[in-house]
Amino acid sequence: MSVVENNLSSVQAMELENKYGAHNYHPLPVVLDRGEGVFVWDVEGKKYYDFLSAYSAVNQGHCHPRIVGALVDQAQKLTLTSRAFYSSRLGQYEKFASEYFGFDKILPMNTGAEAVETAIKLCRKWAYEKKGIPENDAQIIVCDNNFHGRTTTVISFSNDEDARKNFGPYTPGFIKIPYNDVEALEAAMANNNNIAGFLVEPIQGEAGVYVPSADFIAKAQAVCKKNNALFIADEVQTGIARTGSLLAVCGDCSCGSSCENTAQSSYVRPDILILGKAISGGAYPVSAVLADDAIMNVIKPGQHGSTFGGNPIAAEVAIAALEVVKDEALAANARRLGNLFRAELSKFIETSDLVNGVRGRGLLNAILINDTEESSTAWDLCMKLRDNGLLAKPTHGNIIRFAPPLVITEDQLLDCVEIIKRTITEFKKG
Ligand SMILES: *Cc1c(COP(=O)(O)O)cnc(C)c1O
Repeated sequence: MSVVENNLSSVQAMELENKYGAHNYHPLPVVLDRGEGVFVWDVEGKKYYDFLSAYSAVNQGHCHPRIVGALVDQAQKLTLTSRAFYSSRLGQYEKFASEYFGFDKILPMNTGAEAVETAIKLCRKWAYEKKGIPENDAQIIVCDNNFHGRTTTVISFSNDEDARKNFGPYTPGFIKIPYNDVEALEAAMANNNNIAGFLVEPIQGEAGVYVPSADFIAKAQAVCKKNNALFIADEVQTGIARTGSLLAVCGDCSCGSSCENTAQSSYVRPDILILGKAISGGAYPVSAVLADDAIMNVIKPGQHGSTFGGNPIAAEVAIAALEVVKDEALAANARRLGNLFRAELSKFIETSDLVNGVRGRGLLNAILINDTEESSTAWDLCMKLRDNGLLAKPTHGNIIRFAPPLVITEDQLLDCVEIIKRTITEFKKG
């Protein structure tokens, strides 16, 4: 008899997680068993639109055949070598991904938080060895309400109390400024020769899909350049076509191809680019840090690593996932349908007391609930959306993020708009 039961009910599955798993998440009560494209099915066979996409990891849609095919093929051939040896896959992936995003080199890791840690280490080392900051004095500027992951160093510069409390002592060397505030960035850099870099999300996803002013990213990069500090973009959530361009730093360009992007006037090139989530289409943990030689070459053998980083499966899966983004023109689809989604919901919201606004870019959007952060209204609304066949989750108490897989069609999107409108219209505060 197998230890894994195939016919568990939702209740049984939730009880198991509750009893044997650490309580570090508060999931919406739905137990998923299968996924395909924009849809997922629970263990009872009920079908849902997935409007979270595993926090934007599943941009290419659930179980994309090309990505799963790459995974299965490679899994039957060679899964892991560690970096003690070369592999026939890694160099090819590194060339592909570096050219795809327009950087000299890539440093492969597994999770988003690891990639952020890697970027911080890279930035500090560059600061000591290239900029000449005295050892241990380097400071990195970050933004209020940032989300960059859950490791000890990363939570050290969070201002989410749940993420921080009783996890100290914290890693020093970070300065917080308000998001979307170029003057604050300039002031923080003025008369401080120890600034190594500025780490920022081009749109703050977890904070509630805060889209900065159109020129914030370009101006922030210019301030960094003037002060010889590295501009570090965390595109773990916003990258890989989610916001209607290959990267959120691509601005207006939706070509989905780095070579064309770099020629676009709206493209703001980071010194260090951090990617994760959808770089694997949700099929495997893959993350990456990209930079040019002048920065990346400060890391020498033995100074950073990961047993699984850049393993053969990750390499093959990421190539397939990135090819799908281009071949299926997901950036352009996200841009077009994102505009449609916000237009439809904006019209509707004028008639609603429950929702105050909709914001976002591409298919990274959020609605703002007309209630306090502490209220349960957003959660209750997500429960009703679930009942009506659409899965989403509040980011903060009164904000619901809507981020479907980018393979969604116009008909499917309009279907979802109807579900959302109907759910809001029928909703009674409990
Ligand atoms: C999800 C996320 C991370 C962390 O990624 P993990 O894979 O969960 O460690 C970092 N930065 C941003 C912007 C994210 O959205």
